[in-house]
Amino acid sequence: MQTYDEPARRLPVTRQADVIVVGGGPAGLAAAIASARMGARTVLIEQFGYLGGTATASLMACINGFRNQVEPDATQTVRGLAEEIVLRLKELDGLGRSPYPQKSYPTEPGRLEYSYAIDTERFKFATLQLCVDAGVDLLFHTYFCDTIVAHGQVTGVIVENKSGRQALLGTVVVDASGDGDVAARAGAPFWQTHMDEAPRLNDAIMYRIALGGSRPADLHACDFGSTAVVWGPGVPAMPCTDAEALSRAEVEARLRVYQDLEAKKTREPALAAARIVETPPLLGIRQTRFIQGEYRLTADDAIEGRRFQDVVAISSCPIIHYYGYRRYLEHEGYDIPYRCLVPLQVESLLVAGRCISSDQQPYESHRAMVPIMAIGQAAGVAAALCGRTGVQPRALDTDLLQQELLAQNAQLRLGG
Ligand SMILES: Cc1cc2nc3c(=O)[nH]c(=O)nc-3n(C[C@H](O)[C@H](O)[C@H](O)COP(=O)(O)OP(=O)(O)OC[C@H]3O[C@@H](n4cnc5c(N)ncnc54)[C@H](O)[C@@H]3O)c2cc1C
Repeated sequence: MQTYDEPARRLPVTRQADVIVVGGGPAGLAAAIASARMGARTVLIEQFGYLGGTATASLMACINGFRNQVEPDATQTVRGLAEEIVLRLKELDGLGRSPYPQKSYPTEPGRLEYSYAIDTERFKFATLQLCVDAGVDLLFHTYFCDTIVAHGQVTGVIVENKSGRQALLGTVVVDASGDGDVAARAGAPFWQTHMDEAPRLNDAIMYRIALGGSRPADLHACDFGSTAVVWGPGVPAMPCTDAEALSRAEVEARLRVYQDLEAKKTREPALAAARIVETPPLLGIRQTRFIQGEYRLTADDAIEGRRFQDVVAISSCPIIHYYGYRRYLEHEGYDIPYRCLVPLQVESLLVAGRCISSDQQPYESHRAMVPIMAIGQAAGVAAALCGRTGVQPRALDTDLLQQELLAQNAQLRLGG
């Protein structure tokens, strides 16, 4: 391959923060709010001009995972910021009808449903308002490019935006990029699942339709009355940290969108007048890198509902796909230990969201956006505590972390 030597440049240092969060998806926005609420100077870097990540930029308008589905009592396993966001959406009339079969709950504190369809515009608004109120310093339309690492310790990040290339310095960096971009650049060990290990997983493009009057009896979509968000064409799961592969996947999925709606109309005549009114900027990407942490969650941990001393969140979502298409494996909920958020070999760094240290099977459960927000909240609290106490994430006192999470209404025990 032909190469080019880029000349070295002197960069302006535009921010000096306690906590830098890279990525404003469900994990990153929760991390930033939690960190800023603890008084840490918190910067959030996001490539788009709004928050929500896959929820908004990929129109994945269905957030799952507030409670397990184990009869008879179906326990709520996530509270904290994720619950606060749903209650705020309820006030804003920002909840639709989820396609998931589930018991009905009144959407009150401690009484949330398993899954909610979210009005993605109100979700952007509500999460932005929470960030602004918490004092998060938002840097939108900004792309994370590289890390600044000294003696194995991340001391800042390099970003690009319309103003050019800049350096931001921080005491702790939270990688909530979904893809583990920061951790990978900093030299933390990671792996990417071979696609044949998860053969039924597809990346997919979602799209919004205006129903145009008539509506099917069973829409099986995120239902917002006159519009609905439907699952569009899938493409085989791609290594989407490869720009060429991502680009090919976008082309392949987008060229099939209208054909996909026509096929839906053939199967469901009540959709005859439906029109596509929105496709999102980004294909829905399920998984890319997983960052090797101090602990790697296993299938047995999830299936046996294993409890950990350093629990920071609980995931009780079904494990789909891996055990057969749509064959749900029910479990009460398993602990996510803090150590899964602490990457090996690199200091001053935490990971949050879908790239935490986990095998495929438990990932299939905690990748849902509700446990992902709980994990993000934990990373934000941990980062703020590290900044405050001058302790490395690897050495953080997890009793202190748990006390702070409980004070923020997080759920760390089943039923308690
Ligand atoms: C097809 C599909 C279906 C799904 N179905 C559901 C479902 O029904 N219910 C559910 O709850 N979950 C579902 N999920 C899973 C869920 O959406 C994700 O696991 C979750 O959004 C991951 O959150 P995250 O914050 O870790 O990452 P993301 O949502 O990927 O957010 C990452 C953020 O970081 C930003 N970013 C990334 N790189 C950079 C960079 N270099 N510089 C600046 N910003 C950057 C991105 O713009 C984004 O905002 C689905 C996912 C897919 C793809």
